[in-house]
Amino acid sequence: MKTKMRDWPAGVKKTRQRQTVLTLLEQAEAPLSAADLFAGAAAAGREISLSTIYRILEYMEKKGVVTKAEVAGSERVLYELNSFRHKHYAVCVICRRIISVDNCPMENFIPNIAETDFRVTGHNIEIYGYCRDCDGSRGRG
Ligand SMILES: [Zn+2]
Ligand SMILES: [Zn+2]
Repeated sequence: MKTKMRDWPAGVKKTRQRQTVLTLLEQAEAPLSAADLFAGAAAAGREISLSTIYRILEYMEKKGVVTKAEVAGSERVLYELNSFRHKHYAVCVICRRIISVDNCPMENFIPNIAETDFRVTGHNIEIYGYCRDCDGSRGRG
């Protein structure tokens, strides 16, 4: 496992465990839960206790390095790197798999807001459906 991040976040003290958590988040294609990170660290031979992972996530969130991902219909708290480039995720309604969406349907959308001075700073979109695996098993014939 590579541990070199392009830029270590400023104002964050570097420890081996924090580095492991950030690297796992950086390499993930979808947001991860604390349990995912626990399993990922163990798989990489860098076991970190779950309570330490929670502590690291809380600290990183406070520092603005990590952010809770907005995933529609997910009961788990999921984390991703705060890349300042927002991301959307599609969720499979059957297996709850989270799939990253590469574009933003709102990019060229100008909302017609009654209050003209309203400054839009973000948006939330719920994208759900059937993933490839679940779509096939949906009894099409
Ligand atoms: Zn599915
Ligand atoms: Zn968007």
